[in-house]
Amino acid sequence: MRKPFIAGNWKMNLGPVEGAKLAKELKEKVKNESCRVLVAPPFVTIASVKKELEGTNILIGAQNMSDQEKGAFTGEVSADMLIQSGVSVVILGHSERRAYYHEDDAFINRKVKLALKKGLEVILCIGETLEERKSGQLEKVLSTQISGGLKDLSKDDMKKVTIAYEPVWAIGTGVTATKEDANETQAFVRAQIKELFGDSIANNVIIQYGGSVKPNNVKDLMSQEHIDGALVGGASLTSENFVPIVLFDK
Ligand code: PEP
Repeated sequence: MRKPFIAGNWKMNLGPVEGAKLAKELKEKVKNESCRVLVAPPFVTIASVKKELEGTNILIGAQNMSDQEKGAFTGEVSADMLIQSGVSVVILGHSERRAYYHEDDAFINRKVKLALKKGLEVILCIGETLEERKSGQLEKVLSTQISGGLKDLSKDDMKKVTIAYEPVWAIGTGVTATKEDANETQAFVRAQIKELFGDSIANNVIIQYGGSVKPNNVKDLMSQEHIDGALVGGASLTSENFVPIVLFDK
C-alpha cells in the first residue's frame, strides 16, 4: 500500500508574509487527509510557515540544500539548518536546478547522501526534455538520472526517498503528459528502482508525477497504477488550486 503524497513547490514565490497567509488557509482546509501533504516554501519563508503549521500534519520541505555540511560557502543553506528550521523533506535535482544552475547527477547525489545521513527525507526529481523524448532517449536519460542520483544508497536509505517524475516539457507549460504516458514512464522508473534495489523497495517507493498538475487533471493522474502522488508548482501557490488537488479523492 503506497500512501499518496502531494507536495507543493512554491519555487521563488511567496515571502514570509504571503507564505504564512497561504499556510493559514491550507491548515484550515486540509485536515487529517488520507494522503501526505507537503509545502516547500523558499528558505526565508520557512520560519513563518512553520509557525503557522505547528501542530498540523502538513509537512515542510525545502527546495534545495548545500552539498557541504558547513563553513565558507557563501549563500548556501545546510541540511542541519533546514532541520533546525523544521524541515523534514528536501527536494533535490529539480529540472530548474539542473538547467539553470548546472547541477549534474554526481552533485545531486552528494546532496542526496548528505540529506539522508542527516535524517532528511528526499524527493529526487528526474525528467526528460522534449528533444530527449522525441529523439528516443527517454529511457536512457531517466535511467542515468536514477542510477546517478541514487548511487551508493542502501535499501534502508531508499525508504526515505520519493521520486518525482517531471517531464521538463510539462513543467509550468500547462501541457500535462497524458495519464497513460505518465503511467507508462513511471512504470519504467519503478522497474529501474527494482533493478537497483529489489522488489520490495520498488513496490513501496512513492513516485510522484509533476508537470502542470491542476485540480482538473489530478484525479485522472492519481487513478494510474504507478502514479502515487504529485509534485505541484504553479497550482500550489493558492489554496483555491492546491486544496482541491490535496482533496483529489474526496
Ligand atoms: C514543478 O516545478 O515541480 C512543477 C511541476 O511545476 P508546475 O506544476 O507549475 O508545472
